[in-house]
Amino acid sequence: MNRIILHIDANCFFASVETAYNPSLIGFPVAVTGDAQARHGIILTANYIAKRTFGIKTGETIISAKSKCPKLITIKSNPKKYLRHSSLLRQILSDYSNNVEPFGCDEAWVDITDIAKDFKTAKEIAEEISLRVKRELHITVSIGVSFCKVFAKFGSGYKKPDAITVITPDNYRKIVWPCDCSQLIYVGPATKTKLKARGVFTIGDIARTPPEKLKTWLGKNGLLIHSFATGDDLSLVRRTYSKPPPKSIGNSTTANRDLVCIDDVKRIFFVLADSVARRLREKSLCANKISIWLRRCDLSSFTHGAILRADTDVAFEIADTAMRLFCECYDLSTDKPLRSIGITASDISAYTPNPQISLFADDFVRTRRRALELAMDSIRSQYGYYSICRASLLADKSLTHFDPKSENVLHPVGDFNAVRPSA
Ligand SMILES: [Mg+2]
Repeated sequence: MNRIILHIDANCFFASVETAYNPSLIGFPVAVTGDAQARHGIILTANYIAKRTFGIKTGETIISAKSKCPKLITIKSNPKKYLRHSSLLRQILSDYSNNVEPFGCDEAWVDITDIAKDFKTAKEIAEEISLRVKRELHITVSIGVSFCKVFAKFGSGYKKPDAITVITPDNYRKIVWPCDCSQLIYVGPATKTKLKARGVFTIGDIARTPPEKLKTWLGKNGLLIHSFATGDDLSLVRRTYSKPPPKSIGNSTTANRDLVCIDDVKRIFFVLADSVARRLREKSLCANKISIWLRRCDLSSFTHGAILRADTDVAFEIADTAMRLFCECYDLSTDKPLRSIGITASDISAYTPNPQISLFADDFVRTRRRALELAMDSIRSQYGYYSICRASLLADKSLTHFDPKSENVLHPVGDFNAVRPSA
């Protein structure tokens, strides 16, 4: 049976991450550089405007790049940021497969044979991944979809940026073979020169050359690239080290004004509970403990939590519990206004569906609420976070119009760790 493998490659990764953090860079030539003072003053990544309009190349000196484009915005590289984005990208990919094999910090193979019955479905999955990366990480990726790792990687490099290329057993001769041999993985400049000298220019030329000949010219590597060119690459996508489930999942926010009444708190708790519940459901987890975190306008803060009667991944229940906890410990008519609030779900375990609907009214309501929230999940995954919300949240959009999950992503070092991802 054919395997189906994706290769995902983030476009101009470092420069794109910088732009994700600072959207005012959009539309300008941007390059991320090594440390000039530490004598590493070279271009590490440039965005497409810098590369395509001004011909700036990875590895050239900052001085040379600036001579081509005096208005080039240079940013000293910030590896922590890129590693964080890299692991967030991997988290998205691991929603689709246990077999995610990173290749550098901005590329990975994902084996989706189990969930894609054919290349059409595989392309739809690739489109979903591409959209999620855009929405959640604010960067773009190119994706190759194929039946082996080598052609999947070829596909991600075939069209860039923000593109998907499907290479099947039926079309690889047409798409891959006419391309220059150096576009095949492991064909570096030295190999290319040797091949050229013997009249081998394209990937198709490699495929049509008898493997023994390639072996005499290039040694074992000759056999390897022959198998790559013919699509006979059988290497597996490495299985991801299975991570233990997170200990907690939480979201919090600093409101755009101090919260002065219980309705303010209730509205924000609903937004946060929605996000926490959605993240639990995405990972097929549920929680047995809910805690709230409150920070007053004088910056003092505290938490208060409770064990639940039953595990939950339902936002209604999380929000209700948060409100109950709030009423137990805080009174806005006498206590100070609040600056920030948060909800954390902990005591986490795997979600186990209960096929028997009990006759208790509680369980009936809960099943319906969960179904409603699942429907919201699917609408949001298709049309974006803001495509649907609870009507009660429209009352004060200035307070509630934010997506805790993407805020979580884009401001990793928010003040008071409010947006620290706990999953
Ligand atoms: Mg890349």
